[in-house]
Amino acid sequence: MEFQTNSKIETVKLGNKIGALLKSGDILILEGDLGAGKTTFTQGLAKGLGIDDYVKSPTFTYVMEYRGIIPLYHFDLYRLRDPEELYDLGFEDFIDQGGVLVMEWGSLVEDMLSNDGYEYIKISLLKTGENTRTVKIWDTPKGQSLYKELSR
Ligand code: ADP
Ligand code: MG
Repeated sequence: MEFQTNSKIETVKLGNKIGALLKSGDILILEGDLGAGKTTFTQGLAKGLGIDDYVKSPTFTYVMEYRGIIPLYHFDLYRLRDPEELYDLGFEDFIDQGGVLVMEWGSLVEDMLSNDGYEYIKISLLKTGENTRTVKIWDTPKGQSLYKELSR
C-alpha cells in the first residue's frame, strides 16, 4: 500500500483524498523524519475534512483543534516523554467528541494504543529525494479498509 509523490502539492492532494474518507473517531498515526512531509500531508487531510484554516505544526501546544465537517485534532507528539501523557492531552474526550485524531510522531504511542484496544491507521512518509516521498499505509485492519476505499 504505497504511493509516490513528486511534489509538495501531490502530497497535499493525496492527503485530501484520504481526509475525505476519514470517519468520526478515526486515529491516524503519522511516522517519518523531520521534513518528511507529515505536516504537509495533514494540510491535505484538513482540506479533505472541509477545513479551510491553514494547518501548521502544533509542536509547542501538542494538539490543535480545527472545526470542519468532522473536527480535526492535530497532535505533534515529538516532545512527549511518556506515552501515557497522551491521555492528559484529552485524547479520550476528542474521540468522544467524534473527532478525527492525527498524530505526528504517533509511533511513540502506538504500542500503548494497541494494548489499550484502539484501532488505528498508520501512515509513514519517507523522503526519497528533494521533492519525492514514499507514502505508505500500513496493513492494520483500519488501514486495509482505507486502502480498499482509496482503490475504488
Ligand atoms: P514534517 O512535518 O514531517 O516535519 P513538513 O511537512 O513540515 O514535514 O515539511 C516537508 C517539507 O518538504 C516542506 O518544506 C515541503 O515543501 C517539502 N517537500 C518537498 N517535496 C515534498 C513532497 N513530495 N511531499 C511533501 N513535502 C515535500
Ligand atoms: Mg511537522
